[in-house]
Amino acid sequence: MIKWIILSALFVSSVAWGQAVPGGVYRLALPDGAQGVEYDGRPALVRNGFALVGIGINTQPGTKTAYILGAEGRAPHTFEVVAKQYPEQRLTIENKKMVNPDPESLERIRTESARMRAEYQRFSRVPAVGSMIKPVEGVTSSQFGFRRVLNGEPRSPHSGLDIAANTGTPVQAAADGVVRITGNYYFNGNTVFIDHGQGLVTMYCHLHEIHVAEGDTLKQGEVLGLVGATGRVTGPHLHWSVSMNGYRVDPVTVLSLINEEAAADVPAS
Ligand SMILES: [Zn+2]
Repeated sequence: MIKWIILSALFVSSVAWGQAVPGGVYRLALPDGAQGVEYDGRPALVRNGFALVGIGINTQPGTKTAYILGAEGRAPHTFEVVAKQYPEQRLTIENKKMVNPDPESLERIRTESARMRAEYQRFSRVPAVGSMIKPVEGVTSSQFGFRRVLNGEPRSPHSGLDIAANTGTPVQAAADGVVRITGNYYFNGNTVFIDHGQGLVTMYCHLHEIHVAEGDTLKQGEVLGLVGATGRVTGPHLHWSVSMNGYRVDPVTVLSLINEEAAADVPAS
């Protein structure tokens, strides 16, 4: 794990300005008069003269085009997505139904995925969040992007950050927002979605208890539930996903980008 972190740090430092990686965020400096940015047909988050554009983890490396929206229309802006090799992670799940669900469960999973996808594509036109916090303190037990092999079978890459903590540990809202989904999901267990505006959505999974309701307005740091082991898990932890313009991106990248800019807002004294 330590070796991986070192490699990953080297890799991140090798991504040049004007580049992004699959599952990362592209930071675009906006020209004067820009009113917004679109990528893949969806608006991106704009703050402090920059757009933060989420890049899907399944994106093929190469030249991509975002569009800068201005008074005179849309201007194309090209940038490079460079390859990133995420490590493989092999897990053993004792409950076989969580690896190969029966037909009835597959139907449930399809319905749930559609609801979650719709939520990730929500774009509320409210001011972008000021800063972001990690929702629970604990040891990272699985990084974003790990190529998952469950009981020997390849599955989708890991779409969030797993933070191991004891059952009952309070989980805090990463930023101000509105609760859009609370419910029990097949793989994700007890789940909460928070809409932070401008396409930034966070998801909190495997909760032991949910302490909020759909429609609640939360302040950053408010407790939304407790760490648990519901859904597909190997032990109690929080699975935390962060989505930008419809794509799940690395929560660690988002934390550093948003907080770096929030710090830059503070006037030097
Ligand atoms: Zn996870």
